[in-house]
Amino acid sequence: MAVTACNRNPFLKEWNNPYGFPPFDKIKTSDYLPAIKEGIRQQSEEVKSIVGNPAAPDFNNTIGAYELSGKTLDKVEGVLLNLVESDAAPEILKVLDEATPLTTEHEDNIFMNKAFFERVKAVWADSASLSREQYMVAKKLYNKFVRNGVALSDADQARMRDINKKLAALSQRFGNNLLNENVAFQKEIGIPVSSYPSFMTTCADRAKREKAFKAYSSRGDNGNENDNKKVVLDIMRLRTEKAALLGYGCSADFILADKMAHDSKTVDVFLSKIMGPAIAKAKEEVKDMQVFMDKDIAAGKVEAGAKIEPWDWFYYSEMVRKAKYDLDENEIKPYFKLTNVRNGAFKAAERLYGIHIEPVGGLPVYNPEVKTFKIMDADGSLLGIFLTDYLPRPIKRGGAWMTNFREQYVDADGKDVRPIIVNVGSLGAPDDSLHLLTVDEVQTVFHEFGHALHGFLTKCHYKDVSGTNVARDFVELFSQFNENWAFQPEILSTYAFNYKTGAVIPDSLVAKINKSLTFNQGFATTELCAASILDMKWHELTPDTDWDHLDVEAFEKKACDGMGLIEEIIPRYRTTYFNHIFNSDYSAGYYSYLWSEVLDRDAFEYFQKMGLFNPEVAKSFRKTFLEKGGGEEPMILYRQFRGADPDPAALLRGRGLE
Ligand SMILES: [Zn+2]
Repeated sequence: MAVTACNRNPFLKEWNNPYGFPPFDKIKTSDYLPAIKEGIRQQSEEVKSIVGNPAAPDFNNTIGAYELSGKTLDKVEGVLLNLVESDAAPEILKVLDEATPLTTEHEDNIFMNKAFFERVKAVWADSASLSREQYMVAKKLYNKFVRNGVALSDADQARMRDINKKLAALSQRFGNNLLNENVAFQKEIGIPVSSYPSFMTTCADRAKREKAFKAYSSRGDNGNENDNKKVVLDIMRLRTEKAALLGYGCSADFILADKMAHDSKTVDVFLSKIMGPAIAKAKEEVKDMQVFMDKDIAAGKVEAGAKIEPWDWFYYSEMVRKAKYDLDENEIKPYFKLTNVRNGAFKAAERLYGIHIEPVGGLPVYNPEVKTFKIMDADGSLLGIFLTDYLPRPIKRGGAWMTNFREQYVDADGKDVRPIIVNVGSLGAPDDSLHLLTVDEVQTVFHEFGHALHGFLTKCHYKDVSGTNVARDFVELFSQFNENWAFQPEILSTYAFNYKTGAVIPDSLVAKINKSLTFNQGFATTELCAASILDMKWHELTPDTDWDHLDVEAFEKKACDGMGLIEEIIPRYRTTYFNHIFNSDYSAGYYSYLWSEVLDRDAFEYFQKMGLFNPEVAKSFRKTFLEKGGGEEPMILYRQFRGADPDPAALLRGRGLE
């Protein structure tokens, strides 16, 4: 019986098509769980034989062997973890619910295995003999063991396992509650959550905007069965306890210990230096908007004495933008048809890095909206397979992201296995069959493709450090850097064609777009920085916190007052719908976008100084950064590329906040 089942399960076979592409046309929902169980069994056996190897531990027979283990699990998780975000049928979510406790336990079994750790420790003790990439892989793995509590007593380890299991379930619960709240929002307001900003920008009815704002900003905080307040407290209580078990005063310090920023104090100081100039600018923006509101009051459209409220921001800032920059989104959009914008992102990369991108047919995609491409180097060798999944679908998570179906690595036979990467988003208005994009959405396409380039251009040996497998506060450098090319006149002339006339975007419009890029940055920076500080405040709670009497709303209010937030702005995510930090990998990490921005703005200023398409600088960026992945310490790479430390003020300059 078992053999027959294995033979039919596509995850348990070699994917022998040309690119080792996942056979989505053959995968059935019932294939996942058996494949996960088999994958766990296989990797457990592999780990057993590494640990039982009679030879003295060395890099290859211990860490190198571990890097090559778990192939089946990688395949099935690569598919499953992608689809739950982008094509999440209820059956798939159910599979994840069942799989998560199994994979969590499996990870704990590996990283709490003391005999395995002894071997890794022996390799690490002799790290001077390793290549630089091996050193980074060994360091990462060694830390992973320590951070998983391998050195704890048996009793503490048992507690840690219990905590990990509970945390995995709680995070999922947070996410599911939020999905339900998003559905309720759509029912009440009539638009999906992903359309909230565009609705708030265009809806002239102030009462409707207020209603939408209140529904949006109270998600997970409605006292119903989807309320996330208790879930948040349970998560934070356990995270804090886990950090304490490992010897850290708060979970932020535990999480940050292996990041670029390293500790909570460094992040707090960093954010406080941004918040001041951001709020000062936001206050000016409120004044600019009030002028337009006063006109509406005079015209009898808004009641007398009204002041700008959080639900007015999007609407009146658009008015200011039109007046100040004479820029109307409707005037721009015809030049930004999705397929053209995508081609523009391709063109920019081709010009900078000498690569070549072309469509590839015949691959069995998971949804008909997915398009497939081949990315090739200048010498014609394959760099990887690229999927785009850009359009809104009801069962797609909001936002945009890049992930791998397969990581790059060199296999046991010395073959360079190239990555399979997807960019996912919900771009264009749901009712627009032409898929015309806003300026923000154009930046999103370039942003996610920047992550993809980091994945494609990587030339590593070990998958644990290849591509985007770098510290979280380093990874956004590459995506945010890539956004810079979207509105360069030399690149616009290759893609920004009017969908009706074919005419290239006029210079006057290009100038207006570039002038307006620093518009509203007081607001944008403030809401981002506020969410980052709120995230830090949660993760800086200490074990002596009185969890039973902690009031989530009061805690958040105190945090906002403390950072000097003005009442016209709320954090970009409030606690009860802050999925990044309670159900994703960005806990004590939302600051990463701003942290990376110092690097990407500084790097781009260097390009500006040396010539935007200077081939030597682009080559150095590719060789130093994009090829290295996590094979070297981020700051060492940065100094190699730039010849200097990044200038912190580059962020404020780039956002026009100086
Ligand atoms: Zn990103």
